[in-house]
Formats: sequence, structure tokens, C-alpha cells
Amino acid sequence: MLNIRYEYTTEKKVKPDYSKLGFGKYFTDHMFMMDYTEGQGWHDARIVPFQNLSLSPATAVFHYAQEMFEGLKAYKTADGKIQLFRPQKNIERLNNTNRRMCIPEIDPDDVLQAIKAVVKTDEDWIPEEEGKSLYIRPFIIATDAMLGVHPSHSYLFCIILSPVGAYYATGINPVKIYVEPEYVRAVKGGTGFAKVGGNYAASLKGQEVAEKLGYAQVLWLDGIHHKYIDEVGAMNVFFVIDGEIITPTLENGNILPGVTRDSAIQLLRSWGYKVSERLLSIDEIREAADNGKLDEAFGTGTAAVISPIGELNEAGKVMIINEGKIGPISQRLYNNLTGIQWGTVEDTMGWTVAVD
Ligand SMILES: *Cc1c(COP(=O)(O)O)cnc(C)c1O
Repeated sequence: MLNIRYEYTTEKKVKPDYSKLGFGKYFTDHMFMMDYTEGQGWHDARIVPFQNLSLSPATAVFHYAQEMFEGLKAYKTADGKIQLFRPQKNIERLNNTNRRMCIPEIDPDDVLQAIKAVVKTDEDWIPEEEGKSLYIRPFIIATDAMLGVHPSHSYLFCIILSPVGAYYATGINPVKIYVEPEYVRAVKGGTGFAKVGGNYAASLKGQEVAEKLGYAQVLWLDGIHHKYIDEVGAMNVFFVIDGEIITPTLENGNILPGVTRDSAIQLLRSWGYKVSERLLSIDEIREAADNGKLDEAFGTGTAAVISPIGELNEAGKVMIINEGKIGPISQRLYNNLTGIQWGTVEDTMGWTVAVD
């Protein structure tokens, strides 16, 4: 149990126009912070006014990227309750990432307490409208002010909050995806399964190229054979081929184990669908497209929940999926997941956690 110290802001911000929130542009009045010092462990948990950090230019995170982050949301239901969606999964992943990044683990109960406490503090920022939510961004940075390449001896854990708009302001529109021919995002033995900024830095170039060509996101192929599907942008990916629902296996450690991915698999199986977690090559997808058996494709992630894929471009070969429209499986998953999150569909899985 954390002993959280509270320092409230004396000047509450003017709220932005909630009809134009976008994603990650506005931040609430407060933030959570906690320090780690070797010998002392994690200490000084506090909720303070949202503020800039003051750090030495030699701070380890700026040079060698020893850091991690998480992303989840708080939702307000029609009857005014606040709920989180499977936060324990994010916290478990936070500690998995920490182990890979040589960052000291944090007691899962303490992380959940911190998330709830800061969300509760700024609950007046949680959008009321279905589709809008409060994005929660926990992150940890290495704070030793020293240029040696070595795990830091001190860290800062923060949680910041951002009210975000509906991802699909005008209904779900399937996106066009570019199969990345050159760059890779992660390799076996690397940090693909960990939620770290370095993976994103490595992905920017491919994303930039795709956008210039008019594509929304990149489909990443594996880093060794450049053949097997990894992820789409910063989302996990599913393909429906001839009735089989396929998503890349987590076994190789190069894919981020998404909470939305896991939730989609569990829901689909509970509805009687066959879901395979296995290797899936781009050749198998091309073949299915050629034979009219590529029924649906979609990405999964906290931000968009379900992002249908309407078109794939692989080396100039364009594959149109489900006539560029959202498919029945994508739609059913979207309706159920968002329904559970905003409290309009019964949570039979016990996935939501109340913030009171
Ligand atoms: C966060 C993330 C996802 C999606 O994970 P969710 O827990 O479903 O939000 C997928 N891929 C990458 C690379 C990510 O960083």
C-alpha cells in the first residue's frame, strides 16, 4: 500500500473544447510521480500539479533510452461510474518490460493504486460522451546523470492523463496498409515484446515512407526472414482466411502482447470461432487474396480498439479486403469491446475495474 502525498494545484486549467480533443494533446491538472533510488527502492509517491521535469542534460534516458511506457484508458459509464479495462494486464506487462530493460519492478498493487488515485484526482477531466475517454500514460525513465552505458541506479515513475476523443469521429473507416519492404521493427531476442520508446524510434522511418505513399500504417514483417507478419503500426494484427482467424504468435518475443489482442482472442473463442496464434507469412496472405479467401483483416490496440484493414500494398501488389469495408467479425468485436468499456454491454468476463 503506497502512502501517497497530495499537493493540489492552485490554478486549475481551463478545459479544452471536448469536441476537438484528438489524441494526447491536452493534459489534466495533476500527475503521479514516484522515485527509485538504489538501496531505498521505490519511494515518495505523490500526486502533484502537472509540471515540467527538470533534468541534467547528462540524464541516462536521453542518451541510451532506458525507459518504458504503458497505455490504458479510464471510461465514464452512462450512470457516471468510472472504470478501467483490465489494468492488471497492463501492470503485468509493465513489469515484464521493466525486467527486459533492467528497470526495477514495481509492486503491481502499488501501480494499480497509483493509477486509481490520479484518475480519481482528475475525474472531472474524464469525458462523459461514449467514445471519448481519459488516456492514462504511465512511464518510467532512467535518471542517473552520467554518460556511462550501464543500468541506471535511479528512476522516475510518472503517470500522466490526457482526455482523448473518439478514434472514429465519423464511423469506422478501414485503413490502407503498406507492407514494409525494407525496415524492420523488432527481432527475436530484441525488445519487440517490451513497450519501450526505442521500438517506436526504430519504426518512424518506415511509417514516414508509408505515409508519403498515401498509406495510414505499416505492416511489419519479421526481422529475420522478412516473411512472417509481426504487427501493423503500433497494433497487433488479425487476418481471417477461409473462416480461420489468425494472429501472429507471441512465442518469438518480437510482438507486443496487446491487452486488446488477448481480449479479442478470448471473446472470439467464447463465441465459438477458431482462433490460431501461429506464424503467418505474407505469401499465405497473398495466396488467400488471390483465391478470394482473405475475408477480413484488422488491427487491435487500446487507442482504436479495432482498426479494420481495407487494403494491403505489398511491393506494388494491391489487395482489397472485404471490398474495403468493415467485416462482420471486426464489427462484432468492436461493438462488444467498446460496449464493455463504456458499460453498455454486460461484462461477463469480469474485465472492468471500478475507480471509486
Ligand atoms: C501498445 C501496443 C500495442 C497494443 O497493445 P494494447 O495493450 O492492446 O493497447 C500493439 N503493438 C505495439 C507495438 C504497442 O506498443
